[in-house]
Amino acid sequence: MRAVLFENYEQFPSLTDVPRPRPGPGEVLLRVAGAGACHSDISVYRHFKEGQPGAQKPPFVLGHENSGWVEELGEGVSDRIKVGESCLVYGPIGCGLCRKCVQGVETYCENADSLPYLAVGLGRDGGMAEYVSVPAHHLVPLGDADPIDAAPLSDAGLTPYHAIKATLPHLAGGGRHALVIGLGGLGQIGVQILRALTGATVIATDLKAEAREYAERHGAVTVGGGEHQVEEIREITGGKGVDAAFDFVGAAPTVATAAACLAQGGRLNVVGIAGGTHEFSFFTNPYEAYVTNTYWGSVAELWELVDMYRAGQIRPEVERFSMDDALEAYRKLEAGEIFGRAVVVP
Ligand code: NAD
Ligand code: ZN
Repeated sequence: MRAVLFENYEQFPSLTDVPRPRPGPGEVLLRVAGAGACHSDISVYRHFKEGQPGAQKPPFVLGHENSGWVEELGEGVSDRIKVGESCLVYGPIGCGLCRKCVQGVETYCENADSLPYLAVGLGRDGGMAEYVSVPAHHLVPLGDADPIDAAPLSDAGLTPYHAIKATLPHLAGGGRHALVIGLGGLGQIGVQILRALTGATVIATDLKAEAREYAERHGAVTVGGGEHQVEEIREITGGKGVDAAFDFVGAAPTVATAAACLAQGGRLNVVGIAGGTHEFSFFTNPYEAYVTNTYWGSVAELWELVDMYRAGQIRPEVERFSMDDALEAYRKLEAGEIFGRAVVVP
């Protein structure tokens, strides 16, 4: 079968033929419906070096944001899962036994250091292929909802959903403001989730005017870049600052902007992995503010997110690519030419 293969560190992936996977015990083989191209993949194949945090050992098939139809059940898998059923894949894979894993929070597996890979498509073969094999309990049924447009929910949806849910106490009480920086795959869905779950005023920013217009259409107030950005944002909040800031870029300037906009008791959640840092000291931070990071989300949260998708509360903006054009999806993503999410449809 054809697949997008990450062959070597610091090397652009290739479109190549690999053997069709066979589902192992407790696994299910899916015929892939859609596989999203996440910005993190660029870090995987372009930037990470062996042994660095986040680096996953090549070779493996990319694609950690997948949907598909059940094709075949591996040994020991319950026949409650029906061949032909349409599902989303929960990507993170922990040990399955620790306190975090049994709660479905495999992202924060207590035994992660001793595992051979991080997730489907991160260290083990992912969904940028005609077929992918995944653990059976990582399937989230989609019912009759469109599986291709759903694919980004696995990561571009789940990651902001987890970050936003963890921040809800900061957005309760009325008169609240949330800042979203970076309106790409994650940020666009993040705006929709904030609007669906909270009554906070959503302030959004991106370098691209087109992305800001999108956020406005989804109920956000937007600001452009430039030297007065922080003042503009603080002015929208009546001077108090934002109660929650989500940085979906994570570069030095965006972390600095988010931190400078924070209200007393506010929470800055760095989601983007561009490596920007923040100084935290008594005199440089608003009182009782929090700075944190979040990684992906839990399988239970993915079930919740699918409900929101089915209820029409979230609609990922998807640009579809055939398998022939899969590498073009990554080229465009690197060039900043993707609006919303690129999804490869094999
Ligand atoms: P994307 O390429 O789809 O979107 C990035 C957006 O940020 C683009 O719209 C771009 O114009 C905008 N942007 C870039 N620099 C900016 C700046 N200085 N100011 C304002 N906007 C700027 O990326 P994505 O797939 O949405 O991923 C976003 C980030 O989140 C990446 O760093 C990715 O690796 C990371 N990520 C983290 C997790 C996690 O679990 N923490 C999960 C998935 C992705
Ligand atoms: Zn575990």
